[in-house]
Amino acid sequence: MKVDLKGMSLAETEAWVEEAGLPLYRARQLRRWLLKSWVRSFDEMTDIPKLLRSELAEKAHINHLERVKVQVSKDGTRKYLFELQDGYLIEAVLIPERGHFTLCISSQAGCAMRCRFCLTGKQGLKRNLTAAEIVDQAVQVKRDMTDPERLTNIVFMGMGEPLANYEEVVKAVANLTAEDGMNFSHRTVTLSTCGLVPQIRKLGRDMTLNLAVSLNASNDETRTYLMPVNLSYPLSELMSALREFPLPNRRMITIEYILIEGVNDKDEDALNLVYLLEGLRSKINLIPLNPHSGLKMETPSMERIRHFQEILTRHYLTAVVRKSKGRDISAACGQLSGESTGGEVVPPYEKDGKAATMHPVDSF
Ligand code: SAH
Repeated sequence: MKVDLKGMSLAETEAWVEEAGLPLYRARQLRRWLLKSWVRSFDEMTDIPKLLRSELAEKAHINHLERVKVQVSKDGTRKYLFELQDGYLIEAVLIPERGHFTLCISSQAGCAMRCRFCLTGKQGLKRNLTAAEIVDQAVQVKRDMTDPERLTNIVFMGMGEPLANYEEVVKAVANLTAEDGMNFSHRTVTLSTCGLVPQIRKLGRDMTLNLAVSLNASNDETRTYLMPVNLSYPLSELMSALREFPLPNRRMITIEYILIEGVNDKDEDALNLVYLLEGLRSKINLIPLNPHSGLKMETPSMERIRHFQEILTRHYLTAVVRKSKGRDISAACGQLSGESTGGEVVPPYEKDGKAATMHPVDSF
Protein backbone atom coordinates (compact mmCIF):
# COMPACT_ATOMS: atom_id res chain seq x y z
CA MET A 1 0.00 0.00 0.00
CA LYS A 2 1.16 3.53 -0.71
CA VAL A 3 2.05 5.60 2.34
CA ASP A 4 0.66 9.03 3.16
CA LEU A 5 3.64 11.15 4.12
CA LYS A 6 1.77 14.07 5.67
CA GLY A 7 0.93 12.12 8.80
CA MET A 8 4.38 10.64 9.34
CA SER A 9 6.93 11.88 11.84
CA LEU A 10 10.42 12.93 10.78
CA ALA A 11 11.78 9.61 12.07
CA GLU A 12 9.16 7.64 10.15
CA THR A 13 9.79 9.67 7.01
CA GLU A 14 13.52 9.07 7.35
CA ALA A 15 12.97 5.33 7.78
CA TRP A 16 10.76 5.31 4.71
CA VAL A 17 13.25 7.32 2.67
CA GLU A 18 16.04 4.99 3.70
CA GLU A 19 14.06 1.95 2.72
CA ALA A 20 13.49 3.52 -0.68
CA GLY A 21 17.27 3.70 -1.01
CA LEU A 22 17.45 7.48 -0.83
CA PRO A 23 19.70 9.73 1.24
CA LEU A 24 18.28 10.84 4.61
CA TYR A 25 18.11 14.52 3.72
CA ARG A 26 15.26 13.76 1.33
CA ALA A 27 13.01 13.24 4.37
CA ARG A 28 13.35 16.83 5.52
CA GLN A 29 12.97 17.99 1.96
CA LEU A 30 9.69 16.09 1.58
CA ARG A 31 8.39 17.39 4.89
CA ARG A 32 9.21 20.94 3.89
CA TRP A 33 7.23 20.64 0.67
CA LEU A 34 4.28 18.99 2.37
CA LEU A 35 4.04 20.84 5.68
CA LYS A 36 5.47 24.24 4.82
CA SER A 37 4.75 24.72 1.10
CA TRP A 38 1.56 22.66 1.06
CA VAL A 39 2.08 21.15 -2.39
CA ARG A 40 -0.41 18.66 -3.77
CA SER A 41 1.86 16.61 -5.98
CA PHE A 42 5.45 15.43 -6.21
CA ASP A 43 5.68 17.32 -9.48
CA GLU A 44 5.58 20.60 -7.59
CA MET A 45 8.72 19.64 -5.65
CA THR A 46 11.00 21.54 -7.97
CA ASP A 47 14.29 20.83 -6.21
CA ILE A 48 13.82 17.07 -6.56
CA PRO A 49 14.98 15.53 -9.88
CA LYS A 50 12.13 14.71 -12.24
CA LEU A 51 12.87 11.00 -12.38
CA LEU A 52 12.89 10.75 -8.62
CA ARG A 53 9.61 12.64 -8.41
CA SER A 54 7.84 10.03 -10.49
CA GLU A 55 9.49 7.23 -8.50
CA LEU A 56 8.21 8.81 -5.32
CA ALA A 57 4.73 9.16 -6.75
CA GLU A 58 4.63 5.43 -7.31
CA LYS A 59 5.47 4.72 -3.70
CA ALA A 60 3.61 7.41 -1.79
CA HIS A 61 0.40 9.39 -1.84
CA ILE A 62 -0.06 13.06 -1.27
CA ASN A 63 -3.69 12.92 -0.26
CA HIS A 64 -5.55 16.11 0.30
CA LEU A 65 -8.98 16.79 1.66
CA GLU A 66 -11.42 17.77 -1.04
CA ARG A 67 -12.85 21.17 -0.31
CA VAL A 68 -16.57 20.77 -0.96
CA LYS A 69 -17.93 24.03 0.36
CA VAL A 70 -16.97 27.09 2.38
CA GLN A 71 -19.62 29.08 4.19
CA VAL A 72 -18.88 32.57 5.41
CA SER A 73 -20.67 33.97 8.43
CA LYS A 74 -21.66 37.58 8.99
CA ASP A 75 -18.95 37.76 11.64
CA GLY A 76 -16.24 36.51 9.25
CA THR A 77 -16.15 32.94 10.56
CA ARG A 78 -15.56 30.48 7.73
CA LYS A 79 -16.76 26.92 7.84
CA TYR A 80 -14.97 24.47 5.57
CA LEU A 81 -16.72 21.31 4.52
CA PHE A 82 -14.20 18.66 3.46
CA GLU A 83 -14.73 15.30 1.85
CA LEU A 84 -12.47 12.42 2.80
CA GLN A 85 -11.20 9.86 0.27
CA ASP A 86 -13.96 7.44 1.25
CA GLY A 87 -16.69 10.05 0.99
CA TYR A 88 -17.25 10.96 4.64
CA LEU A 89 -17.67 14.65 5.37
CA ILE A 90 -15.92 16.63 8.08
CA GLU A 91 -15.79 20.30 8.99
CA ALA A 92 -13.19 22.78 10.15
CA VAL A 93 -13.98 26.31 11.28
CA LEU A 94 -11.70 29.32 10.81
CA ILE A 95 -12.45 31.93 13.45
CA PRO A 96 -11.20 35.52 13.24
CA GLU A 97 -9.93 36.83 16.58
CA ARG A 98 -8.26 40.08 17.47
CA GLY A 99 -5.17 40.12 15.30
CA HIS A 100 -5.06 36.43 14.45
CA PHE A 101 -7.09 33.41 13.41
CA THR A 102 -7.98 30.23 15.27
CA LEU A 103 -8.74 27.05 13.38
CA CYS A 104 -11.12 24.58 14.99
CA ILE A 105 -10.39 21.13 13.59
CA SER A 106 -12.03 17.71 13.63
CA SER A 107 -10.45 14.52 14.88
CA GLN A 108 -13.13 12.02 13.83
CA ALA A 109 -15.90 11.77 11.24
CA GLY A 110 -18.89 11.74 13.56
CA CYS A 111 -18.50 10.94 17.24
CA ALA A 112 -19.38 8.05 19.54
CA MET A 113 -19.82 10.04 22.75
CA ARG A 114 -23.49 10.91 22.36
CA CYS A 115 -23.56 14.05 24.46
CA ARG A 116 -27.17 15.15 24.65
CA PHE A 117 -26.60 18.71 23.50
CA CYS A 118 -24.24 18.05 20.59
CA LEU A 119 -25.28 17.60 16.98
CA THR A 120 -22.14 15.73 15.91
CA GLY A 121 -22.94 12.91 18.34
CA LYS A 122 -26.34 12.33 16.76
CA GLN A 123 -24.77 10.70 13.72
CA GLY A 124 -22.60 8.30 15.74
CA LEU A 125 -19.01 7.53 14.89
CA LYS A 126 -18.19 7.01 11.22
CA ARG A 127 -14.46 6.60 11.63
CA ASN A 128 -11.27 8.00 13.11
CA LEU A 129 -9.35 10.48 11.01
CA THR A 130 -5.76 9.66 10.16
CA ALA A 131 -2.97 11.97 11.35
CA ALA A 132 -2.59 13.10 7.74
CA GLU A 133 -6.27 14.04 7.50
CA ILE A 134 -6.07 16.01 10.75
CA VAL A 135 -2.95 17.90 9.68
CA ASP A 136 -4.38 18.49 6.23
CA GLN A 137 -7.23 20.58 7.63
CA ALA A 138 -4.66 23.18 8.66
CA VAL A 139 -2.78 22.76 5.39
CA GLN A 140 -5.81 23.30 3.17
CA VAL A 141 -7.07 26.28 5.15
CA LYS A 142 -3.63 27.92 5.10
CA ARG A 143 -3.52 27.44 1.33
CA ASP A 144 -6.73 29.39 1.17
CA MET A 145 -5.49 32.39 3.14
CA THR A 146 -3.72 35.41 1.72
CA ASP A 147 -1.75 35.75 4.94
CA PRO A 148 -1.38 32.21 6.29
CA GLU A 149 0.97 33.40 9.03
CA ARG A 150 -2.02 34.85 10.80
CA LEU A 151 -3.41 31.42 11.48
CA THR A 152 -1.66 30.91 14.81
CA ASN A 153 -4.03 28.89 16.96
CA ILE A 154 -5.43 25.39 16.64
CA VAL A 155 -8.22 23.96 18.76
CA PHE A 156 -9.40 20.35 18.64
CA MET A 157 -13.00 21.36 19.16
CA GLY A 158 -14.50 20.30 15.85
CA MET A 159 -16.16 16.98 15.17
CA GLY A 160 -15.17 14.01 17.27
CA GLU A 161 -13.52 13.16 20.55
CA PRO A 162 -9.77 13.61 20.03
CA LEU A 163 -8.74 11.34 22.89
CA ALA A 164 -10.84 8.50 21.42
CA ASN A 165 -8.46 8.71 18.45
CA TYR A 166 -5.37 9.02 20.59
CA GLU A 167 -2.53 7.73 18.42
CA GLU A 168 -3.44 9.66 15.29
CA VAL A 169 -4.19 12.86 17.19
CA VAL A 170 -0.83 12.74 18.97
CA LYS A 171 0.94 12.17 15.65
CA ALA A 172 -0.98 15.06 14.12
CA VAL A 173 -0.12 17.41 17.00
CA ALA A 174 3.53 16.45 16.56
CA ASN A 175 3.49 17.51 12.90
CA LEU A 176 1.44 20.62 13.63
CA THR A 177 3.96 21.77 16.23
CA ALA A 178 7.23 20.42 14.78
CA GLU A 179 9.67 23.13 13.81
CA ASP A 180 10.31 21.35 10.54
CA GLY A 181 6.56 20.77 10.26
CA MET A 182 3.81 23.37 10.50
CA ASN A 183 5.53 25.08 13.42
CA PHE A 184 2.51 26.04 15.52
CA SER A 185 3.54 26.81 19.08
CA HIS A 186 2.67 24.31 21.82
CA ARG A 187 1.14 27.25 23.62
CA THR A 188 -1.42 27.82 20.89
CA VAL A 189 -2.64 24.27 20.34
CA THR A 190 -5.55 23.19 22.53
CA LEU A 191 -7.07 19.77 22.79
CA SER A 192 -10.60 19.58 24.11
CA THR A 193 -11.94 16.36 25.59
CA CYS A 194 -15.20 15.15 27.06
CA GLY A 195 -13.14 13.54 29.83
CA LEU A 196 -11.56 10.21 28.89
CA VAL A 197 -9.53 9.79 32.05
CA PRO A 198 -6.89 7.19 31.09
CA GLN A 199 -6.07 9.10 27.91
CA ILE A 200 -5.86 12.42 29.79
CA ARG A 201 -3.27 10.84 32.08
CA LYS A 202 -1.36 9.42 29.13
CA LEU A 203 -1.47 12.72 27.27
CA GLY A 204 0.09 14.49 30.24
CA ARG A 205 3.02 12.08 30.02
CA ASP A 206 3.32 12.13 26.23
CA MET A 207 3.24 15.79 25.25
CA THR A 208 2.87 19.45 26.10
CA LEU A 209 -0.18 21.27 24.87
CA ASN A 210 -3.20 23.06 26.29
CA LEU A 211 -5.94 20.95 27.71
CA ALA A 212 -9.60 21.90 27.70
CA VAL A 213 -12.25 19.75 29.32
CA SER A 214 -15.95 19.84 28.55
CA LEU A 215 -17.27 19.66 32.08
CA ASN A 216 -20.79 21.02 31.59
CA ALA A 217 -22.03 20.01 35.02
CA SER A 218 -20.82 20.09 38.60
CA ASN A 219 -22.52 16.97 39.92
CA ASP A 220 -22.54 13.41 38.62
CA GLU A 221 -26.27 13.14 38.14
CA THR A 222 -26.50 16.11 35.79
CA ARG A 223 -23.27 15.25 34.04
CA THR A 224 -24.38 11.70 33.36
CA TYR A 225 -27.69 13.02 32.03
CA LEU A 226 -25.82 15.31 29.62
CA MET A 227 -22.76 13.20 28.87
CA PRO A 228 -22.94 9.39 29.03
CA VAL A 229 -19.13 9.28 29.26
CA ASN A 230 -19.58 10.29 32.89
CA LEU A 231 -20.79 6.77 33.66
CA SER A 232 -17.35 5.42 32.82
CA TYR A 233 -15.38 8.31 34.29
CA PRO A 234 -17.31 10.12 37.00
CA LEU A 235 -16.36 13.57 38.26
CA SER A 236 -14.15 12.38 41.12
CA GLU A 237 -11.92 10.42 38.72
CA LEU A 238 -11.91 13.18 36.14
CA MET A 239 -11.00 15.84 38.67
CA SER A 240 -8.12 13.87 40.11
CA ALA A 241 -6.73 13.29 36.60
CA LEU A 242 -6.96 17.05 36.00
CA ARG A 243 -5.26 17.86 39.29
CA GLU A 244 -2.40 15.58 38.32
CA PHE A 245 -2.10 16.87 34.76
CA PRO A 246 1.33 18.48 34.38
CA LEU A 247 1.00 22.20 33.75
CA PRO A 248 4.10 24.07 32.64
CA ASN A 249 4.62 27.54 34.10
CA ARG A 250 1.46 29.55 34.44
CA ARG A 251 -0.59 27.40 32.11
CA MET A 252 -4.13 26.61 33.04
CA ILE A 253 -6.65 23.96 32.19
CA THR A 254 -9.68 25.35 30.38
CA ILE A 255 -12.98 24.19 31.78
CA GLU A 256 -15.80 24.41 29.25
CA TYR A 257 -19.25 24.70 30.70
CA ILE A 258 -22.28 24.95 28.45
CA LEU A 259 -25.10 26.77 30.17
CA ILE A 260 -28.49 25.11 29.70
CA GLU A 261 -31.63 26.57 31.16
CA GLY A 262 -32.94 24.68 34.14
CA VAL A 263 -30.38 21.91 33.74
CA ASN A 264 -27.05 23.24 35.00
CA ASP A 265 -27.48 27.00 35.43
CA LYS A 266 -28.68 27.27 39.03
CA ASP A 267 -26.80 29.06 41.82
CA GLU A 268 -26.22 25.72 43.40
CA ASP A 269 -24.54 24.45 40.23
CA ALA A 270 -22.19 27.43 40.25
CA LEU A 271 -21.34 26.91 43.91
CA ASN A 272 -20.71 23.22 43.30
CA LEU A 273 -18.40 24.21 40.47
CA VAL A 274 -16.46 26.49 42.81
CA TYR A 275 -16.06 23.58 45.19
CA LEU A 276 -15.07 21.18 42.41
CA LEU A 277 -12.39 23.45 40.96
CA GLU A 278 -10.85 24.37 44.29
CA GLY A 279 -7.07 24.40 43.97
CA LEU A 280 -7.05 23.52 40.25
CA ARG A 281 -5.21 25.95 37.99
CA SER A 282 -8.09 26.57 35.64
CA LYS A 283 -10.13 29.13 33.77
CA ILE A 284 -13.74 28.65 32.89
CA ASN A 285 -15.34 29.21 29.51
CA LEU A 286 -19.06 29.60 29.92
CA ILE A 287 -20.76 28.70 26.64
CA PRO A 288 -24.40 29.67 26.22
CA LEU A 289 -26.03 26.62 24.65
CA ASN A 290 -26.09 26.86 20.88
CA PRO A 291 -29.45 25.75 19.62
CA HIS A 292 -29.92 23.32 16.78
CA SER A 293 -32.94 21.55 15.43
CA GLY A 294 -34.18 18.62 17.47
CA LEU A 295 -32.66 19.97 20.66
CA LYS A 296 -35.17 20.09 23.49
CA MET A 297 -33.05 22.38 25.65
CA GLU A 298 -32.96 26.14 25.95
CA THR A 299 -30.29 28.77 26.36
CA PRO A 300 -30.60 30.68 29.65
CA SER A 301 -31.21 34.44 29.56
CA MET A 302 -28.16 36.69 29.42
CA GLU A 303 -29.08 37.87 32.89
CA ARG A 304 -28.94 34.32 34.22
CA ILE A 305 -25.63 33.71 32.46
CA ARG A 306 -24.10 36.87 33.95
CA HIS A 307 -25.36 35.90 37.38
CA PHE A 308 -23.78 32.44 37.08
CA GLN A 309 -20.53 34.04 36.00
CA GLU A 310 -20.65 36.45 38.92
CA ILE A 311 -20.91 33.66 41.45
CA LEU A 312 -17.76 32.14 40.01
CA THR A 313 -15.79 35.37 39.91
CA ARG A 314 -16.91 36.28 43.42
CA HIS A 315 -15.13 33.11 44.48
CA TYR A 316 -11.96 34.15 42.69
CA LEU A 317 -12.40 31.91 39.66
CA THR A 318 -11.64 33.20 36.18
CA ALA A 319 -14.76 32.83 34.10
CA VAL A 320 -15.48 34.29 30.69
CA VAL A 321 -18.63 34.01 28.64
CA ARG A 322 -17.62 32.69 25.25
CA LYS A 323 -19.22 34.55 22.41
CA SER A 324 -20.28 31.99 19.88
CA LYS A 325 -19.15 32.82 16.39
CA GLY A 326 -20.62 31.54 13.17
CA ARG A 327 -24.03 30.63 14.58
CA ASP A 328 -25.77 31.76 11.38
CA ILE A 329 -23.92 29.09 9.39
CA SER A 330 -24.11 26.43 12.12
CA ALA A 331 -20.39 26.67 12.71
CA ALA A 332 -20.60 27.16 16.47
CA CYS A 333 -19.78 24.59 19.15
CA GLY A 334 -21.93 21.50 18.93
CA GLN A 335 -23.43 22.47 15.58
CA LEU A 336 -21.06 20.60 13.27
CA SER A 337 -22.79 17.86 11.35
CA GLY A 338 -21.39 18.09 7.84
CA GLU A 339 -24.71 19.09 6.34
CA SER A 340 -25.73 22.61 7.22
CA THR A 341 -26.78 25.54 5.05
CA GLY A 342 -26.73 29.32 5.13
CA GLY A 343 -24.21 32.12 4.79
CA GLU A 344 -22.38 33.09 1.66
CA VAL A 345 -21.08 30.03 -0.14
CA VAL A 346 -17.67 30.27 -1.71
CA PRO A 347 -17.10 28.06 -4.76
CA PRO A 348 -14.79 25.08 -4.26
CA TYR A 349 -11.41 24.59 -5.87
CA GLU A 350 -11.30 23.44 -9.42
CA LYS A 351 -10.11 19.90 -9.92
CA ASP A 352 -6.57 20.87 -10.93
CA GLY A 353 -6.02 22.21 -7.46
CA LYS A 354 -6.13 25.86 -8.41
CA ALA A 355 -8.67 27.99 -6.64
CA ALA A 356 -11.62 28.82 -8.85
CA THR A 357 -11.96 32.12 -7.07
CA MET A 358 -9.73 33.17 -4.27
CA HIS A 359 -11.63 34.77 -1.45
CA PRO A 360 -8.90 36.22 0.65
CA VAL A 361 -9.35 35.72 4.36
CA ASP A 362 -7.50 38.65 5.75
CA SER A 363 -10.11 41.13 6.78
CA PHE A 364 -11.90 41.19 10.08
N1 SAH B 1 -15.23 15.93 22.05
C1 SAH B 1 -14.45 17.06 22.48
C2 SAH B 1 -14.23 18.01 21.36
C3 SAH B 1 -15.49 18.64 20.78
S1 SAH B 1 -15.55 20.14 21.52
C4 SAH B 1 -15.10 17.68 23.70
O1 SAH B 1 -16.15 17.22 24.11
O2 SAH B 1 -14.53 18.58 24.30
C5 SAH B 1 -16.96 20.81 21.27
C6 SAH B 1 -17.27 21.80 22.36
O3 SAH B 1 -18.54 22.31 22.07
C7 SAH B 1 -17.35 21.17 23.73
O4 SAH B 1 -16.85 22.03 24.72
C8 SAH B 1 -18.84 20.98 23.91
O5 SAH B 1 -19.19 20.96 25.27
C9 SAH B 1 -19.38 22.17 23.16
N2 SAH B 1 -20.75 21.98 22.64
C10 SAH B 1 -21.28 20.87 22.12
N3 SAH B 1 -22.56 21.09 21.78
C11 SAH B 1 -22.84 22.37 22.09
C12 SAH B 1 -24.00 23.19 21.98
N4 SAH B 1 -25.15 22.74 21.46
N5 SAH B 1 -23.92 24.46 22.38
C13 SAH B 1 -22.75 24.94 22.90
N6 SAH B 1 -21.65 24.23 23.03
C14 SAH B 1 -21.68 22.95 22.63
